[in-house]
Amino acid sequence: MREELLMAPGPTQVPERARLAMAQTLCHHRTNQFSEVIRSCRAGLSEVFSSEEAPLLLTCSGTGAFEAAMVNFTRRGERVACVGGGKFGERWGEVGRAYGLDVVDVALEWGDALDPDRLDALLRDDPGCRVITISASETSTGVFHPMERIAEVSRSHGALLMVDGITAVGVHTLPMKEWGIDVMVCGSQKSFSLPPGMGFVAASERAWERADRSDHPRYYFDLRRERKKQAANQTAFTPAITIALGLEVVLEMMKEEGLGEVVARHGRHGDATRAAAEALGLELLAKSPSNATTAMLVPEGVSAPQVCKLLHSVYGVRIAGGQEHLKPRLLRFGHLGFISERDVLAGLAALERALIAAGHEAQRGAGVAAAQRLYDASR
Ligand SMILES: *Cc1c(COP(=O)(O)O)cnc(C)c1O
Repeated sequence: MREELLMAPGPTQVPERARLAMAQTLCHHRTNQFSEVIRSCRAGLSEVFSSEEAPLLLTCSGTGAFEAAMVNFTRRGERVACVGGGKFGERWGEVGRAYGLDVVDVALEWGDALDPDRLDALLRDDPGCRVITISASETSTGVFHPMERIAEVSRSHGALLMVDGITAVGVHTLPMKEWGIDVMVCGSQKSFSLPPGMGFVAASERAWERADRSDHPRYYFDLRRERKKQAANQTAFTPAITIALGLEVVLEMMKEEGLGEVVARHGRHGDATRAAAEALGLELLAKSPSNATTAMLVPEGVSAPQVCKLLHSVYGVRIAGGQEHLKPRLLRFGHLGFISERDVLAGLAALERALIAAGHEAQRGAGVAAAQRLYDASR
């Protein structure tokens, strides 16, 4: 099978160093050797999350981490404001409803970011609503919400803020402790550039106080038990050992590059890809764009699914299409994780050709040239 260039907003490319670490003979998880892996992963994650307390390692995809947060940090029937505006923001609401919460949908047009003043008004007018959920970087629309202000507003009302950082942590600056974000969930296969299989949950002391008061049924995701176990560098159940071995390596790679530079690099990829999209005459869906993925609309008459198909069949480049009603017109080009300028430029060159082959009128080379100029200017 030809090796493909994975430029989707998740799963993302796994760097070779991590792949090699994961190819090692499996070690047993009840050993000192593996306890040291847990310790170092949690220490590294604490820096990336800038969290009060080290994040917990869970064996599940990102959605499992949503569910873990919901059952531990809310109560049955509690009113929760779930910020929509895309598939993942809306998923918080679905999880909440599954557990009998009183979900207030904060509906947004797909492509729009939450206006913090709207949240302020909502919390002022509805004193019974003291929990907010949001997907910081909404991968289905390429939006990044104004998180610093959102955290400030939540704090000012004494509300608990639960954030999906699955394509935001390690992409944008999102310091949990400094901004007062109470809960942040993440997964292994997006900004951490690993295979799927591990979820992370970090929580503030304020959130932990709620864990004892929760009356939801919970067993596998009873985070009180995990917290105790992980404080002793153990896990309650068999963890995703292989992913942990890879995680240790990618955290080391982030440290070597410097966390500030990791975020800055994502900023350059985002800027370059947006410049390319504009030069190719594609409309950007997000007004407040995330540096994890660029969501671009093809004009009427061009089929986005056909562009994706050509990109993969002819060039071996995998991007993502749109979800739900955006399927016919949306392309999502991912640039998160350990992605280089070479990857972005190669992906854009192929995208340009696939667009033209699908009937889009654009000048050959225009997108790649715009991206190159952006990279040159940011040196
Ligand atoms: C991918 C993604 C999820 C869902 O994660 P799974 O690992 O597929 O369960 C949630 N939120 C965001 C923002 C995502 O990009």
